[in-house]
Amino acid sequence: MAKQLPSPIYPFKYRSTPLSGNSINGLGETVARRATQIFHGSGARRLEWEALERYFALSAPFRVYWLNLVNRWLLRKADGTIAKQRQAVTDPKAMAATVKAKARELGAGTVGIARVSEDALYQGYDCQYQTAIVVLMPMDPAEMADLPGKRSGIETMRVYKEISKTVIGLAAYIRSLGWPARAYGESADILHIPLAINAGLGQLGKHGSLICREYGSNMRIATVLTDLPLQIDEPIDIAVDDLCIGCRRCTIDCPPNAILDSKQMVRGVEKWYVDFDKCVPYFTHTVGCGICIDVCPWSKPGRGPGLSAKLLGKRDQT
Ligand code: SF4
Ligand code: SF4
Repeated sequence: MAKQLPSPIYPFKYRSTPLSGNSINGLGETVARRATQIFHGSGARRLEWEALERYFALSAPFRVYWLNLVNRWLLRKADGTIAKQRQAVTDPKAMAATVKAKARELGAGTVGIARVSEDALYQGYDCQYQTAIVVLMPMDPAEMADLPGKRSGIETMRVYKEISKTVIGLAAYIRSLGWPARAYGESADILHIPLAINAGLGQLGKHGSLICREYGSNMRIATVLTDLPLQIDEPIDIAVDDLCIGCRRCTIDCPPNAILDSKQMVRGVEKWYVDFDKCVPYFTHTVGCGICIDVCPWSKPGRGPGLSAKLLGKRDQT
């Protein structure tokens, strides 16, 4: 049974209030279906909460606004011409290693490969690709320490811009081999987190963000979708649930009290869930809250590998 949630508090007065993000998200629904995009789109489609997104963009400090514009300008090169001569791929494992090395050369932190799954696609999105190459890029913890603030906003948008360059370059490299590939950066029309989980890059935390061993949640995600034959990575277990079940750090520190302390049924899957109607208006009002990411123990620089080993070790003893 889904928890009953109060009505959202918006940072401005709507003439006609949008539908609840929680009901659009399928909170409490027991049948599996694709997600519906609500906020943070590429501009390709009308979204129910796009007025909030415009408010977010226009109320951001100038540098954040500028970096956002530059990022969107860069992403016009997300797709392009495919070389006529196609390179044959006889060894998908070797090709996966080549592609990961190329991504790192272009600035990626960690890289994983997954099949494109239904849970990563929004309703109405017609996906022509089979495979996702998911890239993580860390943010500077010192810059992110003033969350929510101007410096953290600039650092977030800087990393979005850099990771866009990485996936745009990687997609162009794959197209130069004669295979289709398209880059997806911030404001993408796909869901990066399910792809990152399937690509073995981390697990979902109680705060609704990806947690990876290397950077905790202090990173950004971008993706290349392609049909290049590549060896697929397996999901990993770094013991995120083992800590989240007992930890309440993000639930206590979240100013609008948006983080639910137990898993919820969402579109037929039981998982951690953040109250969209509380988080997103607050996130917009503060131009990019993110306190939950900053306070999460996994996000402390260098802590993830030891924390994971300790939690997995404890599990072995019980
Ligand atoms: S702060 Fe604690 S409960 Fe929240 S995501 Fe991190 S480990 Fe999980
Ligand atoms: S981004 Fe802010 S408002 Fe949203 S869940 Fe995290 S701490 Fe709460």
